[in-house]
Amino acid sequence: MMTKLIDGKAFAAKVRGQVGEQVARLQADHGITPGLAVVLVGEDPASQVYVRNKGKQTVEAGMKSVEHKLDADTSQADLLALVATLNADPSIHGILVQLPLPDHMDEAAVINAIDPAKDVDGFHISNVGLLGTGQKSMVPCTPLGCLMMLRDHHGSLSGLEAVVIGRSNIVGKPMAQLLLGDSCTVTVAHSRTRDLPDVVRRADIVVAAVGRAQMVPGDWIKPGATVIDVGINRIPAPEKGEGKTRLVGDVDFASAAEVAGAITPVPGGVGPMTIACLLANTLTACCRANNLPEPE
Ligand code: NDP
Repeated sequence: MMTKLIDGKAFAAKVRGQVGEQVARLQADHGITPGLAVVLVGEDPASQVYVRNKGKQTVEAGMKSVEHKLDADTSQADLLALVATLNADPSIHGILVQLPLPDHMDEAAVINAIDPAKDVDGFHISNVGLLGTGQKSMVPCTPLGCLMMLRDHHGSLSGLEAVVIGRSNIVGKPMAQLLLGDSCTVTVAHSRTRDLPDVVRRADIVVAAVGRAQMVPGDWIKPGATVIDVGINRIPAPEKGEGKTRLVGDVDFASAAEVAGAITPVPGGVGPMTIACLLANTLTACCRANNLPEPE
């Protein structure tokens, strides 16, 4: 079977271009520049890369980007004080606190201190509740990017069997809500799921968000199914030289591509869409804050 490669990199570039045009129009017509503040606590190398990319692409889309880098031993009170300052700053429309936070902090308390209207990650309890009840909310960026690729590929998702592997608050659960919202029949699998291969074999749509390198092989995939691979895992790549590594997803791409109807690569699939959706959410937050019509 010929699989279709879902090009998240190209799709994300298109989304960022559209956001950039709308930002330019917002500036020309209303003199408003959307602003995104990203807060990073500590020195986690992966987080540093994400934050750098987010800042760069925010600026490229014509928005204001502010980065706050705090030491790993910053107190939770100091972080909450920064969040309060950003909540009150009218030039900031989106606030993102990069996760994970150091162990001495209560992640939920910090996230829930963000003004829900500025919560462009969509992790605030209010946004989670709004999404779960089908109301207008801020939608988490990674699942939103996955949904956009699925809609683009399928048109309507109505009635399709979707299996989400992973139940984190960041990816699995909001992904399941979004697929339910688009009228899929949704199964959420996790580490305690029995007969995972059989569960996955039912799926017209598989979203893998586990964090285990290449754990989903092609023989779990129903022929013709669409596979969205959220995982980002670094594995040794001796073929590139001693000590070298490469990125792989949670799906074994080579075998899955033999049977899937469509599949996202890693890298170049979900990852770029996540940042594009962050920019789109910041634009949306800015429009809502100024009582302007929201972008489509
Ligand atoms: P978490 O570690 O929070 O959640 C992983 C989930 O996978 C859990 O629900 C866990 O089950 C489940 N799981 C673990 N082992 C198994 C197993 N053997 N079989 C079935 N399910 C299992 O991870 P995240 O959701 O935060 O991230 C998942 C992956 O996606 C990671 O690789 C991460 O790097 C990547 N990611 C990529 C992003 C992007 O932009 N592309 C953004 C965010 C994440 P249980 O709940 O029972 O423990």
